This record gives sequence, structure tokens and C-alpha cells, in this order.
Amino acid sequence: MGGRKSKKKPMARKKLTQPLDVLFNCPFCNHEKSCEVNLCRPENIGHIFCHVCLEDFKTTINYLSEAIDVYAEWIDACENVNN
Ligand SMILES: [Zn+2]
Repeated sequence: MGGRKSKKKPMARKKLTQPLDVLFNCPFCNHEKSCEVNLCRPENIGHIFCHVCLEDFKTTINYLSEAIDVYAEWIDACENVNN
């Protein structure tokens, strides 16, 4: 007899209090998750900067913009410089 009690507890998913992912890999120094995005909604400014090499970038955002969009813009800008 399989008298084994396999009680499956549903994992209580705690809501993390941290915001959305705002840390990205740096295209300059290649550190992982060293770039932090700040979205200034009132001013429609997105600012990203790297904690390691201190590169930074500012762009205009709109109400739909997310941190990832600021990061994507930065990457685009970097690529344009190299062209
Ligand atoms: Zn960096």
C-alpha cells in the first residue's frame, strides 16, 4: 500500500514589493544588471545609467514607455554612434 502522504501545497505566491525589472546589462562595460532606469513621468524623461562605468543616457518617454524602452533606445543610440 502506498501509504505515502504526498500533500501538495500550492505555493503561496507572495507579491514582491520590488518594481518591474529596471536593471539591464550594460552595452559599454558588459556588466550584468548594472544599468538602472529611472522614469520621470511628470517630465517625460527616461534616464538610464550604469553603476559600474557611469555611462548614462536620457531620452523622452511617453505614458506608455517602460524601463525596457529606455534601455532599447540607449542600445539603438549606441549602435548609431558606431555607424
Ligand atoms: Zn557600464
